[in-house]
Amino acid sequence: MSCIFCRIAAGEIPSQKLHEDELVFAIRDIRPQAPVHILVIPKVHIASLWELEDEALAGRLVSVAARLARQEKLEQGWRLIANTREHAGQEVPHLHLHVLGGKKLGRMLPG
Ligand code: 5GP
Ligand code: ZN
Repeated sequence: MSCIFCRIAAGEIPSQKLHEDELVFAIRDIRPQAPVHILVIPKVHIASLWELEDEALAGRLVSVAARLARQEKLEQGWRLIANTREHAGQEVPHLHLHVLGGKKLGRMLPG
């Protein structure tokens, strides 16, 4: 198994999970881009949002992201990002949502 997030999901690589249920788990990003930077990740290997067809899983990913934002007290605002495929700069080819917050974030602009 070479996929890093599959290995973390399987417990092959130890990690501190902020959330775990039967469908998804959440960990802090190893290279945080904001004071709060959490990844919400499906346990099954799905390459990106492009390949996601399971609506129950989609709903779970987003609701867990929102719950974690509340848990992290991001009432002043936060951002949900899903880098999808090459033009978005997706580095890890296993679907994940970024929860970012804890400071005023820059304008979201392409390019
Ligand atoms: P992408 O560019 O694919 O949307 O983001 C991948 C993210 O995964 C990056 O922010 C990167 O820092 C994070 N990441 C990559 N490898 C690991 C890891 O082994 N552990 C954790 N916690 N984050 C990782
Ligand atoms: Zn994977």
